[in-house]
Amino acid sequence: MKLTLLKPQFYRYELQPDNWIEQLPDGTRRPVSGLRGLYVRVNGIQDAMGIMYLCPRCFTANDGRVGTHQILNWSKTAGTPDDADPKGRWVLRGTGYDDLTLDAEPGRTRSVLLIGGCAWHGYITNGEVTDA
Ligand SMILES: [Zn+2]
Repeated sequence: MKLTLLKPQFYRYELQPDNWIEQLPDGTRRPVSGLRGLYVRVNGIQDAMGIMYLCPRCFTANDGRVGTHQILNWSKTAGTPDDADPKGRWVLRGTGYDDLTLDAEPGRTRSVLLIGGCAWHGYITNGEVTDA
């Protein structure tokens, strides 16, 4: 299926100063200040560090986006830090959603494999999403 059917959106990962409440393993809460990773929408692949889209397996099973979770693929080549979640990394190739290819980062695989949940395993190649 076409990637564009899956409502793709490019993102940047940015560390910004923030204050939040952290819950400790014993259930107590404490205020924390520091740098926090935020997902920022961007319009073009030239500004992107990753891409989010609806899961193709669940999109098909649910006959649309209602109840369908999203998949987020970060790019190390585009500058995403190693500690950003989720940990998978791909090279973003192409000019936009219509011809996007997720390519292998050095030492990693080109396919996308979801651990747990629906366990979708597949590829994005020249704007087409296919199962592995
Ligand atoms: Zn799914």
